[in-house]
Amino acid sequence: MEGEGNGKSIEKLRVDIDSIDYKIIDLLLKRNEIAHKVIKLKAASGAPVFDEERERLIIEKLSRYAGGRLSNDFIEKLARVFLWESKSIERPNSFRRRNDKIFSLLATRPAVIAGPCAVESEEQIMAAAAALSAAGVKFLRGGAFKPRTSPDSFQGLGDEGIRLLKAAAAKYGMFSVTEFLEINEIERHYDNVDIIQIGSRNMTSSGFLKYIAKISSQDCKPIILKRGFGSTIKEFLLARDYLARDGNPNIALCLRGIRTFEQIESSMRNTADLAAILELKSLTGSPVFFDPSHSAGRADFVPQLAEAALALGADGIMFECHPAPEKALCDGGQCLTLVASAELSKKVLSSKP
Ligand code: PEP
Ligand code: MN
Repeated sequence: MEGEGNGKSIEKLRVDIDSIDYKIIDLLLKRNEIAHKVIKLKAASGAPVFDEERERLIIEKLSRYAGGRLSNDFIEKLARVFLWESKSIERPNSFRRRNDKIFSLLATRPAVIAGPCAVESEEQIMAAAAALSAAGVKFLRGGAFKPRTSPDSFQGLGDEGIRLLKAAAAKYGMFSVTEFLEINEIERHYDNVDIIQIGSRNMTSSGFLKYIAKISSQDCKPIILKRGFGSTIKEFLLARDYLARDGNPNIALCLRGIRTFEQIESSMRNTADLAAILELKSLTGSPVFFDPSHSAGRADFVPQLAEAALALGADGIMFECHPAPEKALCDGGQCLTLVASAELSKKVLSSKP
């Protein structure tokens, strides 16, 4: 009898919950209506639709209003959904939804992007994809166009590298991540990759950033922007603003070590800019990745740096691996073996967000 009474009470409470949910939908639609008026006025005056600073202020205001009754993280997620939703309605595009889904997967802690520095052969990229996907990794990296310091070093397989990366990602149900160095490469391969990487050397190339901002604004293809090795945090965020300016909100940041005086006598390739994770997380809602491979330049330091980055709040890591690191044509010294990669990935992916 008592159970029946409870059942009735629950039913009644559920009616109340439903009515609140309907009101939330009505309010969101009302909000979209007003947001569209703002978008139209902005478009008429030539102002960009996305305004990161305004979005940040809205999130701050809402967090203050909630006054701790809801977590800041929850407020931020909620606000991002309705801020971006209202803006995407203006540009219906079948690819947009897919790209938003990829980005939200990328932005879900703890994410892992892994793969070889450069795609070298079908066997190599397939072996890496097989091992990584078996460990739960969803994002397969692999360079086809490599930004090498020496013109005599291996420059990547180019178009063929993109073809092999795409085939490996498709075979193992992963999303591909690759860097482009030139506009003509993007023109040829825009539709062949899931996530565009902008490397450390190109972060300061404003013309290149503008081109990618424009082309990616149509379908909001996710972009992962690496920090220039000599760039300040402010410059890094301004580069991100270049990319977001035409309306693509799907931009992730990746720290990868910076050059300091330490490199004069250190075995490490760069100085791991780990504390910058804390600062970026406090300044921006963009997902923040850390690349322990380029930070240290030493495979033996990679697992601990990766764990440190996640402990500091990074949303994910990007690391390099190779079926036979000693034979790698590029960055072998910082590549994990496939066994070590699987071990690190499993550990990271099973850790609490
Ligand atoms: C890379 O990730 O392949 C790469 C070249 O990294 P970075 O641009 O950080 O040097
Ligand atoms: Mn590399």
